[in-house]
Amino acid sequence: LVHARNVHKSFDQLEVLKGIDLDVAPGEVVVILGPSGSGKSTFLRCINHLEAINQGSIMVDGEQIGYRLRKGRLEKLSNNAIAAQRRKIGMVFQQFNLYPHMTALENIIEAPVGIHGESRKAATENALTLLERVGLSEKAGSYPRQLSGGQQQRVAIARALAIKPKLMLFDEPTSALDPELVGEVLSTMRDLASQGLTMIVVTHEIGFAREAADRVIFMDGGKVVEHGKPEDVLGNPQHQRTRSFLARFI
Ligand code: ATP
Ligand code: MG
Repeated sequence: LVHARNVHKSFDQLEVLKGIDLDVAPGEVVVILGPSGSGKSTFLRCINHLEAINQGSIMVDGEQIGYRLRKGRLEKLSNNAIAAQRRKIGMVFQQFNLYPHMTALENIIEAPVGIHGESRKAATENALTLLERVGLSEKAGSYPRQLSGGQQQRVAIARALAIKPKLMLFDEPTSALDPELVGEVLSTMRDLASQGLTMIVVTHEIGFAREAADRVIFMDGGKVVEHGKPEDVLGNPQHQRTRSFLARFI
């Protein structure tokens, strides 16, 4: 579903991604680990073209993200075409950024109705199903301020799912939460993983990586240092940098 090849990204002089390769098959869950500043968020943002890459290519669902090949040359896609590609990719951030003046339900149907022209009735039905999936059926009418951080993040997950993405990107979805609220969000994510959703997850939750990931990637300095099954990367890392990173969590 995802094929990233030799992805390079610089901000001015600063080269942040130095040739990232990643393949993700449908239904796979890939966890990206790595120290602060290693380029994890930048890589996720490149996947849905929130950042334009400088070199390499990213294919999602058979389409090159942000560009198309025309007469042997790469050409930038129109904003409409980019919007259509983003519709296949849901993203959940550390900060949930729900609209404060909208209920949980209204937050979830906003994009399907407002942007994608779904009928209010169909979007509402879907939203109620999604709220059930994230364990918040009874909170449809609640405003963000009436919800805990963990509940807000689960609404944000439901909102991202409402556009029926083929791929979900999570960027440290539990990092802003009080420790006692982390578990409920991870458990929701584990459910989604076991239901066959394709997910790329940046997280420092090693336990989640061990239990839910099909593969783990360790990034450092804009490169993939180590890549493999969770039991190998976490249990028997081959590189010193991976070992010293993981040592912090033990
Ligand atoms: P963290 O674990 O702290 O979230 P990260 O691995 O997600 O780190 P990135 O946010 O991808 O790291 O940042 C990688 C590098 O790119 C950092 O040095 C950062 O300062 C730089 N960077 C990120 N975004 C920009 C930007 N828009 N302009 C300039 N530099 C940026
Ligand atoms: Mg980050």
